[in-house]
Amino acid sequence: MPLASLLLSYLLLFYQFLPEGQHLCRLSFTKKVAQSLYKLFVKLKMADVKDVSRQKKYYVKFTKAPFEEDTTHEFKGHRNLSKDDMPWWSMDKKHEKGSRKSVSRNLCGFLNTGMGGTVYCGIVDNGEIHGLKLTQYQRDHIVGAMHDLMSRYSPPVDQRRYKVKFVPVLGASLTEEERLEMSKFDTKEVVNEEERKQPHKYRTPHYCWCDKDMMAQFEHGILISDYVIEYKILPWEPDGEATGGLGSLLNLHPIHADEEGKIYFRRQASLIQAEKRDRPKEVFHCTQRDGTKVSPFQIIFQLLSWLLVIMMCDRKLN
Ligand SMILES: [Zn+2]
Repeated sequence: MPLASLLLSYLLLFYQFLPEGQHLCRLSFTKKVAQSLYKLFVKLKMADVKDVSRQKKYYVKFTKAPFEEDTTHEFKGHRNLSKDDMPWWSMDKKHEKGSRKSVSRNLCGFLNTGMGGTVYCGIVDNGEIHGLKLTQYQRDHIVGAMHDLMSRYSPPVDQRRYKVKFVPVLGASLTEEERLEMSKFDTKEVVNEEERKQPHKYRTPHYCWCDKDMMAQFEHGILISDYVIEYKILPWEPDGEATGGLGSLLNLHPIHADEEGKIYFRRQASLIQAEKRDRPKEVFHCTQRDGTKVSPFQIIFQLLSWLLVIMMCDRKLN
């Protein structure tokens, strides 16, 4: 970041000596150059973050995941998305340690580091792939519940910042070719499009109609496919539309509070909750993509660079 600021300052110096009348197009050119440099800088910085899930078409049941829990990967054996979906027994204070925690806390942590990350539901803590039995109706429910949850964050999370993916979990007895062939078909089940339109019940630990339907299918001996649910938070795009262009140079991203109003940060394979007394500091400070804090000097330097741009725009326009 200081490198980008320095380059920008140099570019601004050159801009000062441009002939009158060309300033506006030159400014956008300057900005473009600065943004390209910044992008390159971010790319170099992000090069060590491996995205294993991207190439993954399917998982093999009861094998170990090809990655471990770290800054961008979190395993969950269940699919309780928000605090409201948690079963009553997990709320027991006596069993606080090792008890079930919602997926939402981790999503919040991934958002607030700016680096993004993926929660894998259906992979247990030791990395073994179990998968979760899900019908098409339940998969619809999960996608809807994710939109519902992200809309309850403060500030709400833009739909372009997350993805929900269902990766099939296939038996170890199958050959590689058979698995590849099977993973090509999303679902072989019969789906009633009318039934699919029924509204789902979110924010409750009780069964939704889609869960009851799955249990009925299971009892009738209908084979239900296993999946790993991948909730992916995408890294903060500094030049994304949401930043209005400013974020590209400041590298500022919003700090989100989850549905309970709590703020989490991801550190290695664990979460840190911002304490109440820390909150104003945590909310207003800038974090870099690796989650480390930006020094006040860096922030002042970057702000000054921008102030210079704004002042010069003003001078040229008047
Ligand atoms: Zn449902």
